[in-house]
Amino acid sequence: MPTLNLIQPFKPILNIRALQESVTQSAKAPDGARCQCDPQCKEPPLEKFPFCAFHKKNRCGRIAPVSKDTPKYNPTRWNKHEGIRGSLNCFAYAFDYFKLPKNCTIDKCDASYPQPGRASGYPAWSNTNGKRCPDIIARIMGDIPEVRLTTFTDRCPKGFRKIAVVVDPNEDYHFYRQDSDGYWSHKPGATPVTRLDTTGRPIYDPMLATRDNKSSNLNYERFCGYLLVPITKNIRLSRSGGTRRAVGTRQKKRTI
Ligand SMILES: [Zn+2]
Repeated sequence: MPTLNLIQPFKPILNIRALQESVTQSAKAPDGARCQCDPQCKEPPLEKFPFCAFHKKNRCGRIAPVSKDTPKYNPTRWNKHEGIRGSLNCFAYAFDYFKLPKNCTIDKCDASYPQPGRASGYPAWSNTNGKRCPDIIARIMGDIPEVRLTTFTDRCPKGFRKIAVVVDPNEDYHFYRQDSDGYWSHKPGATPVTRLDTTGRPIYDPMLATRDNKSSNLNYERFCGYLLVPITKNIRLSRSGGTRRAVGTRQKKRTI
């Protein structure tokens, strides 16, 4: 008899929805930032710091464990060369996809970005109606079937690391990845990899970090969840075809 796979992938998402709703009760700084230690913290965060004064003084007891395979933060690898920085997006960064097409060099590459679902046969985004959390999660699991849903505080097993998925519903998606010291980093479109949120604070928990990108007019307000991603050099993603859209040709700029 074959054994059934009893993984229930959508349970953590329901928990996250409840958690996200509870976040609305926490205190905000004038720039909209919240203390990233506790989803219900009643104190606003300090300037350029992820926590409020209380959680800075007392340390944050809510921790997202890393695995021994979680990579170190290494922005130079992604930022130094224009061909790499300009043609690999948040999706590529989150999955550590570091490949360029044959006609590109590390100094020049006009190829379009890798897009979730393209490797597993989903249609191009331009032919679909929405970029909602379930759309993105289904596409990721199509591309990389080893991906599993997890939570902030769950253990990270050997051979995996954690990423987080967010959306500006119907407009754009965005990804964060956890680094070996527990903090999170991201690559907004063709811009450099950073560990800061949109208020200039380090990202301790992407669900509680500020994700309102005023310069691109995108607010990734919907938090989709945390995922376990396998550590492997052989992840296959596909670029969407054609060349990158020129920035500023639409009312809302895509930064994916
Ligand atoms: Zn706090």
